[in-house]
Order: sequence, then structure tokens, then C-alpha cells
Amino acid sequence: MTVLITGATLPDGTTTDLLIDKGVIAERGSALSAAKATKIDASGLQALPGLVDLHTHLREPGFEQSETVLTGSRAAAAGGFTAVHAMANTSPVQDTAGVVEQVASLGAQHGYVTVRPVGAVTVGLDGERLSEIGAMAQSRAAVRVFSDDGRCVHDALLMRRALEYVRTFDGVIAQHAQEPRLTDGAQMHEGVVSAELGLEGWPAVAEEAIIARDVLLAEAAGARLHVCHVSTAGSVDIVRWAKARGIGVTAEVTPHHLLLTDELARGYDARFKVNPPLRRDEDVQALRAALADGTIDIVATDHAPHPLESKECAWQEASFGMVGLESALSVVQQAVVDSGQLSWSDVARVLSAAPAAIGRLDGYDDAFTVGSPAHVTLYDPAARSVFDTGHLHGKSVNSPYLGRELPGRVVATIHGGVPTVLDGELRDAEEVARG
Ligand SMILES: [Zn+2]
Repeated sequence: MTVLITGATLPDGTTTDLLIDKGVIAERGSALSAAKATKIDASGLQALPGLVDLHTHLREPGFEQSETVLTGSRAAAAGGFTAVHAMANTSPVQDTAGVVEQVASLGAQHGYVTVRPVGAVTVGLDGERLSEIGAMAQSRAAVRVFSDDGRCVHDALLMRRALEYVRTFDGVIAQHAQEPRLTDGAQMHEGVVSAELGLEGWPAVAEEAIIARDVLLAEAAGARLHVCHVSTAGSVDIVRWAKARGIGVTAEVTPHHLLLTDELARGYDARFKVNPPLRRDEDVQALRAALADGTIDIVATDHAPHPLESKECAWQEASFGMVGLESALSVVQQAVVDSGQLSWSDVARVLSAAPAAIGRLDGYDDAFTVGSPAHVTLYDPAARSVFDTGHLHGKSVNSPYLGRELPGRVVATIHGGVPTVLDGELRDAEEVARG
């Protein structure tokens, strides 16, 4: 398939035409033409390299009532993503070569995005024995990111061994930093609001203590550590200290932790119940500044679909998590671009090049250069709309943004030369699967 994009604004601010053929950027320049190409007029649109999510829950196998590889891939494409890293807390757990190969091949079959499975650190996420890390790394899925996400690898000896193991093949341990004893029964951020509402508090130190321990373990092991969903100002300080010391640590922040605060729990609306919890405004400001100064490397969605019945219930009974793929770019624009803290070239880094580099995913380091894989997102930052279920394409609707006006609209997504979204609409599954 040949695609001609005219008048797109690249992340560096220059305007260009792009000709996409045979899966790569074939030509770049002005007044390009191609007789039989699918033409996209991109005047006024921001071109970004295809977005890469390092933290997605696709729920298949095992929880297909919440999401499948297909529906999650469609949600991702609609949000401008061309690659996602699928977390391991499926059923069966992604802790063997067989399961990770199955998930990767489902993703490849559907074709909306590249699906890279994350391998579990411990068997069954039980925190007791290391999983078949080497076998998953050597499998056809070539796993490089390992995480028990949803649970913390809280045993220091296991964490040390996991770090030492992945170092041998340049893998990374992505830690869900949550000290389990300090968060037993916790419902929301521990502070003024939790005290007023009478909800069990989730102290900042439960996250910070694990990050502090893990950066030291990573240093001792000489291994790469990635910290999932950093949510507190104190965590930012620890990551900043570790980077200054030369420790191989990277960190992510979610869009929701860049925009929303614990004040939203006051309505007891469980759409705002998430792990780690929404924090104070001071934390939100610290996270934005850390993303701007590079202390936090990337934005990752932590897209966590849940069925209606586990969200439309009492706060204490509700599941933790929010869907986030379709809203991520809009929330990043509102939180840190419109405020002037990040440029579009920064956005390209934190939502594409840097997450690809952490996941050791090829094809994202030379975006928009002739010969490089054509992963392209075209985005209209001037659009505005009230976010509603029409924006959602997965199986679950647990978005905290429903009814809220957000900026921006993904107009087109191109994955390896194949359009997955055109004119703001997802293309048909059979067309995309044919390539
Ligand atoms: Zn997590």
C-alpha cells in the first residue's frame, strides 16, 4: 500500500510531504506526488512517530470479557499507538515461552499494532520463584521487559536475582513499586482527603521505599531497572538521585497522574480508583516538572480495562484501574504541552523513541528518515471535544475522562506502512489484517 501525506508538521516544526511505500518512508520533501497513493492532507496536523506504550493490559488470555488482543490493539491504534507492551497478569500468566508467543502472534495476526509481551518475573506472579525468564527472552516473542505488574516483586533476594538475570541479555525489570504491608487494604492516597472520606490510606512511602531499595539493587547488580507509574514527588527525588549517581534506572508516569488528583475521590466515583492512587496537586506538579527535565523518561498509559460491574459499585469493592489508550495523547497535550512544559519533539521522545528504547524495540530511533519503518501518527492539536464512549474502542469504558472536554484528535495512524486509522476512523479489521 502506498500513502502520500502532504503538508505535515514534523516534531521539529518543519513542514514536509511524506511518501510511504512498502512499509517504509520512501520519500520526504515538498510537492511529492504518487498517482495511485492513498492521499492524506495533513495541513495543520502534527506528525508524530507512531506512539509506543510500555505499559498496557490487554487481558487476553483469560479476561476476554474486559479486553482482547484485538480490541486493545484497536483502542491503541485509535489513540495513535503503533506498538504496545502487553503486561503479564493474564490467565494463564505470561510466564512461559508458550504464552508470550501466543500473545505476540495474536497481535501480529490482527496487525493494528506491534504487540510485545512483557514476561512475568515470578511464576504465576506469586512472588516466590523466578519464571522462565531466559526461555521467554529466547522465544520468538524475544521478551526484553519483565514485570509482575499489578503486584510488586517485594522479596529483595528475588528482585536481585531477576536483575542479575536480565542483565545477561540486556533486558529490564519493570517494577510496580508497592510495599504490600504498607498498603494492606489501602483505597486511596493517604492524606487530608482520605482522612475526611474515611477511606484507608495508601502512603507515599509505600512506593518510595521500594524505589529506593530497587535503585540500590540495580546499582549492585549493574542492571537496568524501570519504575512503573511513578506517582509521588518523593519518588521523583529518588529517581533523580539515582540517575545523578549513574544508576541504570528509567521511569514512567501515566497521563492520569499528570492531570488528576485525589480530590476526585470525594464523589466516591470508582472510575477514579487506580493503582497507584491519584495523589495531591503538589505531586502532579512535581511529576510534570520531572517529565520536562528528563528525570521521568516516558509517559505510559497503564491502560487497565475492567467490566462495568467492577467499577459501578461501592468504592471499597471496585477494581483499581482506568482505560487510557485513546485519551493519552490528549491528556498529555492538556497537562504538559498546552502549559508550555513540553514541545512536540519532547512528546515524540516520551511517547515513542524513549519507550521503544527501554523496551529494545527496533524501528523507532530514526523516525521520518527515508528508509525507516513507516510508523506515523497524525494529530490535530486544535480539535476539542467532550470525551465520551464514542471515543473508546476497547471492550471496557472505565475512563476517568468521560464527560470532560479534552483537546486534540488522532486523525490517522500508520503502522509499518499500513493505515489503521484514517479520517479519525479505525479501519476495518480484515483490511488491516491483510496489510
Ligand atoms: Zn502497576
